[in-house]
Amino acid sequence: SKTKTFHSLRPPINLPPQHLPLTVTAYALSLQATSPWPRDSVALIDSATGQKITYSDLIRRMNSLAFYLRTVIKLSKGDTAFVLSTNSVEVPILYFALLSIGVVVTPANPLSTESEISRQVELSNPVIAFALNSTAHKLPKLRFGTILIDSPEFNSAMQTKPWFNQETYRVEVYQSDLAAIMYSSGTTGRVKAVMLTHRNLTSVITGYYSVKEETRTASVVLYTVPLFHTYGFIYVFKSVALSETVVVMGRFDVKKMLKAVEDFRVQRLATAPPLVVALVKGVVTKDFDLSSLEWVVSGGAPLGKDAIAAFTEKFPNVLLAQGYGLTETAGGAFGFVGREACRRWGSVGKLAAYCEAKIVDPDTGEALPPCKQGELWLKGPSIMKDPESTAATLVADGWLRTGDLCYVDGEGFMFVVDRLKELIKYKGYQVAPVELEQLLQSHPQISDAAVIPYPDEEAGQIPMAFVVRQPQSSLSEAEIMDFVAKKVAPYKKIRRVAFINSIPKNPAGKILRKELRKIATPAGTSS
Ligand code: AMP
Repeated sequence: SKTKTFHSLRPPINLPPQHLPLTVTAYALSLQATSPWPRDSVALIDSATGQKITYSDLIRRMNSLAFYLRTVIKLSKGDTAFVLSTNSVEVPILYFALLSIGVVVTPANPLSTESEISRQVELSNPVIAFALNSTAHKLPKLRFGTILIDSPEFNSAMQTKPWFNQETYRVEVYQSDLAAIMYSSGTTGRVKAVMLTHRNLTSVITGYYSVKEETRTASVVLYTVPLFHTYGFIYVFKSVALSETVVVMGRFDVKKMLKAVEDFRVQRLATAPPLVVALVKGVVTKDFDLSSLEWVVSGGAPLGKDAIAAFTEKFPNVLLAQGYGLTETAGGAFGFVGREACRRWGSVGKLAAYCEAKIVDPDTGEALPPCKQGELWLKGPSIMKDPESTAATLVADGWLRTGDLCYVDGEGFMFVVDRLKELIKYKGYQVAPVELEQLLQSHPQISDAAVIPYPDEEAGQIPMAFVVRQPQSSLSEAEIMDFVAKKVAPYKKIRRVAFINSIPKNPAGKILRKELRKIATPAGTSS
């Protein structure tokens, strides 16, 4: 019902008028132009080489590349371009150029297999691909072929041509036009294509822009998240809109990241839970000067309270905040502003200005009041375009069913309990794997853990733990079960343990539970 819809508590924002032809590229750059930082401030830094690209360089390269793609390659508005690359400074320039001429970008994980890629290509129907020398062989033959991002051709296409004239390739792109096709992570099922419009992206960027702190000094940010995932994708546009300097890392490595924080005086890290855990447990940080670091944002997967506590103790001067969003919401739907995070450990923040939310009882479909747990539904201009294939997650009136079990407290802070579909049913009781995982991770001899349902004749399902022990540890299965049993209600006890060398995760840090289920029940008996 209407009264149980949660409206954003943030001040209202003005989205760009919907009928205006406007690409997300033009929009982000127009916001950048309003910043007090000049166009010769640095936009991108390659962490490996130290190469710096200023905002004016970025605009020059982007325009030049767009001109080349339009006039030499002959791409048209509405064509789709597949991108298969690791993070690099060229990738944001490519995204900007393609989107500026109305070409739809569809970025995929460079580690995808050939069969995964052929499925993605089937879903998005690209006419051209942009790949690396090392990833191009996995692509099928496309109408306009494949351009290598790490080639002299691409590099020269980014160099300004004397005969360059923007008017000769101008295309009218409307906000309702498709901007990106993203592949949702598929931790539980088959990969889905999520359709995002320029409007979806401009709304999220307007939201980020509206909460930039007034007195902010120019920020240097480093993303540990991949640019092919919505998280990294939207952050590139957000950073440009806010005139930030983005440090881009190719292949991710914790030590190299710490070195980059020291070398480039990084102030903000955009990351996912595994890195937060690594910073408190897995890696020696004292050899690096991390004094520039002010803010770490974690998103994409659940972050445990123990990890937050340990992080805050180890880095008392760094603010640790969370953000929550889905590919289907084009980025963050909940987040923190300023020092709000300090007041609500474990929360993912408050609803963004451009969203409405409901917490819905999964059994009755009834909207619930604050503090009650139910499925989170979201609505607003950032919600993906409705394609037939994903219609099941979009319900009446444009509400998106997130599949996440959540609650909102009396002050509007949201908490994620678990994925609804991943709840373990032990004798009819609901057990949230995330709760047990975080408990296991708090054990000093456990470096990582994952919990899945294991089929059981009597109970239906029992909680089973996969545990990665710290190097020298000889912790036994019984000790682990005992440790958990002392801290949880009896129905939540871990009743089966297996040791593993590492927990399989996707690039956004989500545990690949279906892989673990395969290991646990090789015959496929799992329910
Ligand atoms: P993706 O489409 O890959 O971005 O995945 C979206 C899903 O990630 C959400 O439905 C949540 O289950 C999960 N997620 C994202 N951010 C968080 C967070 N801060 N805490 C817990 N789960 C999260």
